[in-house]
Amino acid sequence: MSSGKLSYSAIIKATIDAISIAARNFVKPERITIYYPYEKLEYGRARGWIGLLVEKCTSCMMCARICPANAIKMYVAPNGKRYPGIDYGRCIMCHFCIDVCPTEALFPTDIKELTWYDSKEMLYTPEMEREPPKIHQLHKPIKVAIKYAGGIPKKVKLA
Ligand code: SF4
Ligand code: SF4
Repeated sequence: MSSGKLSYSAIIKATIDAISIAARNFVKPERITIYYPYEKLEYGRARGWIGLLVEKCTSCMMCARICPANAIKMYVAPNGKRYPGIDYGRCIMCHFCIDVCPTEALFPTDIKELTWYDSKEMLYTPEMEREPPKIHQLHKPIKVAIKYAGGIPKKVKLA
């Protein structure tokens, strides 16, 4: 039965690994942050912004119930029905809400670059979920990808 403690050899190995990574970065520093918005990441399979077609929504609330981040709030509309709005400050982009929606009122998009100036802007009402957020292109972006080679992050410029 495991006592939950690391063996001496595991501790020594982890320490040697940490020192060797530090030494490698001292000799040839690797940068893992990017200069956004001058540089942009390749988002790969990450999921995007979530849209809502209110007219398809039956107010079943299944999306709000399944949300693991408690990011969905139901808003009362003038017609007395409740429609979902998403707090992107909480949303983890799992898309469970889209998967569970029986009428496809919630739909996925490829909009992965979401930035806000203020946390209040991250709170989307059902009306706001209809129009995709605008992406401000202030600069010509350089696309980069962070790849991991042998556990070491490596910045790769994309064509
Ligand atoms: S994507 Fe996931 S976390 Fe975000 S609102 Fe939907 S269920 Fe909640
Ligand atoms: S968006 Fe879909 S899951 Fe959510 S309340 Fe409307 S119909 Fe139900």
